[in-house]
Amino acid sequence: MNGLVTVLRAADAAARWHVNQRRKGAAQEPYVTHLLEVAMLVAEATGGADPNLIVAALLHDTIEDQGVTRQEIAAQFNDDVADLVVEVTDNKKLPKAERKQLQIKHAPDLTPRAKILKFADKISNLRSLATSPPADWPMQRRIDYVVWTMEVVQGLRGASDLLEQEFDRAAADAERIIPWRQKADSTNRPASARDAAGLGVPADEPSSVGPRPVTP
Ligand code: ZN
Repeated sequence: MNGLVTVLRAADAAARWHVNQRRKGAAQEPYVTHLLEVAMLVAEATGGADPNLIVAALLHDTIEDQGVTRQEIAAQFNDDVADLVVEVTDNKKLPKAERKQLQIKHAPDLTPRAKILKFADKISNLRSLATSPPADWPMQRRIDYVVWTMEVVQGLRGASDLLEQEFDRAAADAERIIPWRQKADSTNRPASARDAAGLGVPADEPSSVGPRPVTP
């Protein structure tokens, strides 16, 4: 199918699947704004040359947040899209702290296209944290989140010059209101020491609130 048609079909599907989900930020933006931002970043990073990756960007949170299955994505789109979404989906059966650690561990091993998608997701989440942080997150939690994001992104660098620049700009912008760098520097110790200090076990994603209808 024509790439443009497929991308818009995915945008429509994403808006429907996430219809009751909102961002966790104080502004409670509709969740689809995050999906469109990630898709736009992916499209820019690839010059629009990889429609399946843009489709996967639009659908990247459907399994994790809406209980959509790999099979549904494969049936409505294709196996390539479904595999990409699975690759950037956390295993929700694991405890949150472990999932976050696995993101750091697995980032360098993602396929090059999944790295681009993950990178775009982290940029969008970091921008949101700076511009519309969850009201109930104390500063320490925001700092921990940025420090964790920096660790994940360390494994994604090299995937896209454009996304690397966008990420570094977002991190610099965030630093004006979230003094994360001080903390990051003080955590330049072995991971075991960080864990003992309660660092490196990051907080929640500033991603979503609201009901999560699970499709069968
Ligand atoms: Zn996301």
